[in-house]
Amino acid sequence: MIVGAGLAGCLLAWRLQQAGQHFFLIGSTAMPSAFGVAAGVINPVTGRWMTKTWNFDQLLPKAEETYRAIEQQFGIQIYHPIPEIRFCQNAEDLKRAGRRMRNPRYRNVLSHMAAAGKAAPEFNDEYGTFHIDQAAYVDLPLVVNTLRASFATLGVFRDETFLYSKLKASLGAWQYQDIYAQNVIFCEGAAIQDNPWFKNVPIKPTKGETLLCQSPTIRLPQKLYHHKKWFLPYSNGTFRIGATYDESDLSNAPTEAKKDELLRATHGALKEPHQIKVTAHLAGIRPSTHDSRPIIGPHPTESGLYLINGLGSKGASTAPAMTQQLTDHILNKSPIDDEVKLARFD
Ligand SMILES: Cc1cc2nc3c(=O)[nH]c(=O)nc-3n(C[C@H](O)[C@H](O)[C@H](O)COP(=O)(O)OP(=O)(O)OC[C@H]3O[C@@H](n4cnc5c(N)ncnc54)[C@H](O)[C@@H]3O)c2cc1C
Repeated sequence: MIVGAGLAGCLLAWRLQQAGQHFFLIGSTAMPSAFGVAAGVINPVTGRWMTKTWNFDQLLPKAEETYRAIEQQFGIQIYHPIPEIRFCQNAEDLKRAGRRMRNPRYRNVLSHMAAAGKAAPEFNDEYGTFHIDQAAYVDLPLVVNTLRASFATLGVFRDETFLYSKLKASLGAWQYQDIYAQNVIFCEGAAIQDNPWFKNVPIKPTKGETLLCQSPTIRLPQKLYHHKKWFLPYSNGTFRIGATYDESDLSNAPTEAKKDELLRATHGALKEPHQIKVTAHLAGIRPSTHDSRPIIGPHPTESGLYLINGLGSKGASTAPAMTQQLTDHILNKSPIDDEVKLARFD
């Protein structure tokens, strides 16, 4: 039984299905989620320090293979490779970008630097830019909604809020209402704090907001533009701006303050003034962790209970590999990597 039909829960259910296992997925489409507001960007080099994403060279092939397999199975398009341009914000950035370019570890994710004003003339660009290779965005709502619909057709998805008080140990298995399960795998994202078995897992919930927009005048080649905020144009002429980070406000409600922050950053990044109409303003909570690593594995004492969480701001790239590891662990007793196992907090 899988609890939480978000990105992790649906991919895990799909993996169990591929492995020929019986499963049942319980998740509420009415409850808030992170996948529903995420841009699904896979960014190989991130943050102020321009560091290569943890384990990127292992995570990306698994992610691409997984999303391509789902595309094939359902005849949909979810994995979109996209060129990425990052704008240096100051002289320090420029020096750091140069150092990264000379570092062999970055050879497969960074390519040429361009002098100020050369790479994307629509943007203010005082210090120059560099290209990030192997970036992509994944249509996470399409992944999740496609898998949910397929599981619903098979009668193995129940759209409801899981009530922890109704889960009972019963004769070496777990009983939830009319369902008996050998294993229960919790994939609730930031809502894990309500889970009595895993409530002490150190998740650091981090709120984020994004804007879906359109403009009568902004026409840009389809690239991911990373200025102070990122700017992602879609093929239908709309674009998305993101994202904010907030650890103090943990409501799911979008705020005017963050909308202003995103719009101000965008107007500041673009050379010409443009009219921007916000068509959707979304907010959600990322299930982040203090060491920025996912958390997967069995409950320390309760046999048959498992967890996948802590996908933070990188679920698009980490969920495929983490669901694979946990599936292999449950079915074949394969060891879980030390860096991601829940037991690292013991
Ligand atoms: C603003 C924002 C931008 C982001 N941008 C990116 C990005 O560009 N790239 C990227 O890789 N990641 C991004 N993320 C992060 C990404 O969304 C998460 O890493 C990913 O969704 C985590 O997957 P999950 O399945 O653990 O959690 P979720 O996607 O939140 O799914 C958990 C699901 O479980 C359900 N659930 C919880 N408790 C219960 C219960 N008791 N009963 C029933 N259902 C329950 C929830 O309703 C939800 O549907 C972003 C997140 C935010 C908020």
